[in-house]
Parts: sequence; C-alpha cells; structure tokens
Amino acid sequence: MDKKVIKRNGSIQKFDKTKIIKAIKKAFQSTIGVSESDFNNLIDIFSNKIDEQYKDKDDVEIELIQDFVEKTLVDLGYFDVAKNYIIYRYQHKRTRQFVEQKNEFINNYKDSDNTANATIDDNSNVSNHNISVLNAEIHKEENRLINIKILERKLKALYPDFNSKQLLDDLNSICYLHDSSSQIGMPYCVAITMYPFLNDGLKNIGGLSASPKNIDSFCGMFVNLVFAVAAQFKGAVATPGMLLYMDWFLRKEWGDSYYEKLDYIISPSISLRKNTIHHQIHQYFQQICYSLMQPAAARGMQSVFWNISIFDRPFYDTMYGDFYFPDGTQPQWESFNWLQKEFLHWLNQERLKTILTFPVVSACLIYQNGEFLDKDLYHFICDEYAQGNSFFTYISDSADSLSSCCRLSSKIEKPQFSFTNGQLSEMTGSKNVITLNMNRIIQDFCNQYTITKDDGSIKNVQLFCDDIKKWRSLVYAEWLSSKNDNGIRLKFKEYLCNILNRIYMYQTAYDACLQELKEAKMLPVYDAGFINMRKQYLTIGINGLNQAAEFIGLSCNKNDAYKEFCNLIFTTIKEQNALHKTKDLMFNTEFTPCESAAIKLYNRDKHDGYWVPDDTNLYASYIYKPNDSDISILDKLYLHGKEFCGDNLDGGSAAHLNIDTHLSKEQYLQLIKYAAEVGCKYFTFNVPNSECDNCGYITKVPIVKCPKCGSDKISYYDRVIGYLTKIKNWSIGRQIEQKTRVYQKV
Ligand SMILES: [Zn+2]
Repeated sequence: MDKKVIKRNGSIQKFDKTKIIKAIKKAFQSTIGVSESDFNNLIDIFSNKIDEQYKDKDDVEIELIQDFVEKTLVDLGYFDVAKNYIIYRYQHKRTRQFVEQKNEFINNYKDSDNTANATIDDNSNVSNHNISVLNAEIHKEENRLINIKILERKLKALYPDFNSKQLLDDLNSICYLHDSSSQIGMPYCVAITMYPFLNDGLKNIGGLSASPKNIDSFCGMFVNLVFAVAAQFKGAVATPGMLLYMDWFLRKEWGDSYYEKLDYIISPSISLRKNTIHHQIHQYFQQICYSLMQPAAARGMQSVFWNISIFDRPFYDTMYGDFYFPDGTQPQWESFNWLQKEFLHWLNQERLKTILTFPVVSACLIYQNGEFLDKDLYHFICDEYAQGNSFFTYISDSADSLSSCCRLSSKIEKPQFSFTNGQLSEMTGSKNVITLNMNRIIQDFCNQYTITKDDGSIKNVQLFCDDIKKWRSLVYAEWLSSKNDNGIRLKFKEYLCNILNRIYMYQTAYDACLQELKEAKMLPVYDAGFINMRKQYLTIGINGLNQAAEFIGLSCNKNDAYKEFCNLIFTTIKEQNALHKTKDLMFNTEFTPCESAAIKLYNRDKHDGYWVPDDTNLYASYIYKPNDSDISILDKLYLHGKEFCGDNLDGGSAAHLNIDTHLSKEQYLQLIKYAAEVGCKYFTFNVPNSECDNCGYITKVPIVKCPKCGSDKISYYDRVIGYLTKIKNWSIGRQIEQKTRVYQKV
C-alpha cells in the first residue's frame, strides 16, 4: 500500500520522498557557509533516514515530517541550515495564516448585508457593497498597525525619555485615534479657501485644468476640486465659499441682476428644449450635488463628506466685506443671498427625489442684544425647517467664530483677505482627532483614589468597600462634598491633566508626521494654498461623558452637580489646550460624534470589566442622553448652551433634536430664539425620512405604509451622526441604538 501524507487542511496526498529532499535542498541553498556539494553528499543519508523513519507508517502528518527534518539537520550538526529551514517553514506558515485570515474576511464580507457590518471601522456613508469597497476594506487592519507604529516611532524620536509603548496601552484603553485604519498618515478634515482655484485651477494639486472661465467650467471643475482635496484627507471637506464663487460666475454669465430675470429663456433658438435661467441654475446644483455623491475610489468608495455654509448679512460683511475676485470686483450681497436661499430650498425639494446625504449645510446667524441681526434669514431658516428641510444652525454672538463643517467651529481671529489665498478665515479643520473615553478615565481614577480616614490612615476607596455599590456611593458623597479647588474634584483634574499631557505628545508626534509628508511634497493641497497647516487644529475629543457622570452617581439633566462636572472636564481641557499652544500647534476640544468608536469604546470597557450602563449599547455625544424620554427639546438646547458648555467645546458639539414630526414656522422661530438665549450654538432637528422600497416615493416624515402604492416596505433615513443616511446601511450596533432614540412630540 502507498504511504499517505495528511496535509494541514486535512487533505491526503501520496507520500513523495523527493519533495522532502527538495525542501532540504532549498534550506542548504539559502545558507551561507555550506555548499551544493555538502548537500549532494548528504542526499543518500537523508534518503535512508526518511525510509527508516517511515517504513512502518501508512500515513504521516506533514508537521511531523517537518519536525523530523529539523531534528535530523540538528543531529548532523547543520545548525544554520536547520535555522533557515525553520524560518522558511515559519514564513510559509505566516503566509498561509495571512491568506486564510483575508479569505475569511472576504467570505464574511460576501455574506454580510451591508459594508458597515463587515469592516473594522464602519461608516454608513459607504452605501455600496461591492468589489471596490472590499478592496479598500481589506487593508484596514494593516493600515491601523502601520499608522500606530509610525506614530510610536515618531514619539520615540521626539521624546526619547518617554516610554513610547504607553501609546499602544492608551489607545487600547483610555483613548481612541480616529480613522487610523482608512489610510496611511493623512490629515483629518479641512475647510478650504477656493481662491487658488480661481487663479490656478487644479494644476497645483495634480490636475490638468487651468482656472475656470465661466459658470459651466466652474461647476464641472468644482466637483473635481472637491474630489481632489478629499482624496488627501480622512474626513470632511468644507467649501464655505462655494456659493459666493458660484454667484460671481452667474453674474458674469447673465448680469448682476440675474436673479431678477429667472424666467428668461436662455436656450438658442434652434434648441427644442426651452431652458430658463432658473432651471439652468437648478441644473448646476444638480450637477454638483449628484456628482459629489458619487462614491470616490480614492476614499474606499465613500462619497466625499462635503459641507457648505450659509451666512447671514453680518457674517457675510465680516467674511467678505474686503474680498476681491481676481477681476477686481467685489461680491454682491443681494444676488449671493438669493443664491444661498435658493440652494437651501432646492436641496429640500431635491431630497423628495433622492435623499442626498451631502452637502451638510450649516446656516450661520448672529444674535446680539436679544435679537437676530439678519431677521430675514432667521425667518427663512425657520420656514425651511417647517417645510421639512434638514440642516444645521450655528448661532454666534459675534462674527468672530464660524462653523464651516458639521463638526467644527473655528475662531476667526481677524478676517483677512489676501490676493493669493482669498479669505483666510475660511481655512480651518482638524489635523488629527484623539478622543478621550471619559467613562473609562473616571473609573480608573476612582480605582486609585485614596481618602484619609479618621485615624489618619490612607485608604484606597475601592479596596475598603466590600461591594461596588458601596464604593460608588462613597465616591458620590465625596464628589458632592468637594469643591473644584480641593478634594476629589481637584485630584480628578490633576489626573486628567496627566493623561492630557500624554495626548498632547501623541498629537505633536502626529503633527510632526504630517510636517514630514508636507516637506516631501506629498500634501499638495497645502502647497497650493487651499489650506495652511497652522490654521488647523489638533483635536481632543470627548466621549462617554454621560456614563462617566452616571458612574459617580450624577444624573445627566439640568442639575448643578452635573453642570459642575461638565464644566470641570471642559474647562480643564480648554485650559490645557491653551497652555500647550505653540506658534505651530493649536488644540481644540470636541464632542466627537464617534460613529463607530462609540460602540467600540463601550464594548471594550464592558469586555475589560468596567461598569457600562445597560440602557444603551454605546457612548453618545451629547450632554443629554438621547434615549432619555424625560428630557424635553428645551432642556436639550439648555444643556448644550452656555451654562453647561460655555465656549469650551470650541471644536464643536451639535445638539441633535430628535422629533417625531416637523413643527410650524412659528414653533421653530421660538425654539431657535430660545437656543440663542441659552447659548446653544450648534444644533439640528431630526425627523426620520421615509422612502418606499417599491415605488421610490419619498416623504420627510416616518410612515409605515406608502400612500402612493400601498407597500409596507419602507426604508428610513436619519442622521447616524452628522449626516443623513439610510438606516439599513448603518452597522448593527448603530441600528440598535437608533431604536432607543427618543423622537419627541412637541
Ligand atoms: Zn410606494
């Protein structure tokens, strides 16, 4: 009977002595110090030993054959050859494991119903589930490892006395490095000035097109511009000046009062399709928005995260009062204002045909001395909300800060026009985001917190409490009796500062990596003048705030103890941000939306034995708990206002006001005025939209049955975090969380 070899996967092959000898030959060939003739002299010895070893066996496992070869080489004194044989064997094993692991990933991806559930870093903006998405997703694990290693090396170089291994410990416990898996070493997000585009087109960022000459080339090239910029950033690209530039080109085409001649037919007489100025402007909107919603290959088939702003008159005056286009003319408020309103209104109507996720629009209003300075835009915005429109409102008491992104407001130090870059104040963004897991941090802190007992002995609070309940109530009592300048609160502040010191080192190292890329001319968006690195922040994110408060016994609603808790954390980070500022580095603080991180951090804490609540499956990004039905819309605005947040969350935090149906214009007028009064700077209203899977009918409210075709197959859309997507595309974790959201009746 023939001998058999049992392979690793269980399959059976004929025993072939020559294969074994061939493998030994390879090991000899790759070893310095032995020659081919050494091997030839040994063939017979090997051959005999193999015959001897396997003469009575019918079948042999491959691993045992390899063990035998290793042992024989050592017995014969060929240690180096044995070593190479072992390395060769190990490398093959690793390749096999790698391929198996990737194959498993591919199979899992094929079987999953959406991309968010089959990736290590989900994002509901990827609506496709196809081969090109797979090709981006499959590298995420390696990208993450490489990114962290690069950061660790830079850390070591910058701070030789610091144990750089601490980075990995921290990333696996108290903090989260955002989007570390999508690409290798990129800046995070950006709001650009588009002025260099008017001067040089796309030439300086790798394109061929020179500057746009008319409205048609502007619209086409604008799309290319946003794609080209987005390909070099992990997150959002904001173009706050888009409508200002579009207005300029429209005026060049049809005159300064084009918006008063909307019904004018512009088609040539030979054309059968009669097109008006109004219709043509809508076509430009369509061209831009639909093109930008196209999944981008350079972004793992995510569409671009694209944001634009709408400005009220005082914002406009501050931002563009001294602005000049390359032809020496200035912007014109009347037509620009018409265009921005027209765009917002059009977007709402268009979303009855297709629920466009982008752009995320932020309307910026100034509120001073009890009133909105631009009443016309304030009324317009409320009217749009009442008609089911979905966008963010940003309110400031002066034009010195601006929101140009769904998650970022930035300080405008001195709005300043330059003939090279245009409006410099448009430039902002985040170079990198590292989020602190506050729930974990407070528990680690409490674990090591000690108190002095009556007899003078110092005790660790946790150790002398026999159960966790007693421990937590003791911490609660300590917390309430303490003040910020003594006791447990002061100790917590010191504890947090200690962690922050490390985070600033990580951020500085990340920044140094970006500087290197820039010096190597690998970040052309910067060199072309669209953005300046000094205008971008390194962002300290916050997550798990509600749970941190709950852990020490506080309730996340309007109460003084919770307010002081929030203030303590926010002001500590803000103070430290200011202390660590240098001429090249600025830090800001943000309630990070954490689409996927919120679930990962929750699960990690649960897995590692930390306390996590069971009324949710993730850490939300609000002062209030979105699943708390006792908190009213007014409370939510209040909690995101000056009392709880102040100006401390300078990197952004958005209140998402989930309501079950749209309100009247009058109600929005009151709500937004209330928001301004209590200092809630940034918010939006969310009412789930519905789309009939059968006939495609779309409505801006949740329905269970299609009024058009009667089908009960309805898809719902909501903001997973900042942007509106189909709930079916969300990860399972986010879909579970969505069911716990309270959509209030007002
Ligand atoms: Zn239908």
